[in-house]
Amino acid sequence: MPREVHERLEACWQRVKRDFFPYWKSGDWTCEVLHDQVFEKLREAERAVGKVTGDRLPLPEMMCVYPHRKIYARASLVTTSSDNVLDSVMIHEICHALLRVRRKRGHCLAWHLRLEKVYQKVCKLKRNELAELIDYQLRQYSDEVYSTSDLQMDRELKAPKKRP
Ligand SMILES: [Zn+2]
Repeated sequence: MPREVHERLEACWQRVKRDFFPYWKSGDWTCEVLHDQVFEKLREAERAVGKVTGDRLPLPEMMCVYPHRKIYARASLVTTSSDNVLDSVMIHEICHALLRVRRKRGHCLAWHLRLEKVYQKVCKLKRNELAELIDYQLRQYSDEVYSTSDLQMDRELKAPKKRP
């Protein structure tokens, strides 16, 4: 894969962290571009163990894999999308990454609140197109707040669990 592809994702990662998550100590988290087929395989594997929920964004996209401390991006997303689209998907995934520390999964209420906060910042910075994309996500996933209820997830998490 050409170096520019990796550099483009890295630039997005740095920009999004700097502008929207300045207090996040990202530590050992990194991001990585995967060839589309490799990305698909990993996504299927994660889906098989119930780690991937909801596929509402128009594909292609990214995926946050907590045990790897990685945000993976599909190569075709990185090569074909605008900065705004890349940033919006990166923001989506970083919200997941942040919440997994608190053992929250999916598009739960905490995820919505976090994304809502970022939305306010996006508006302040007058990045209108990005704001529209984030607003779209908030609406797309709004029903999941109630359907994959936080209660059910909390119950799941109370069961003894190996640490990643
Ligand atoms: Zn998600």
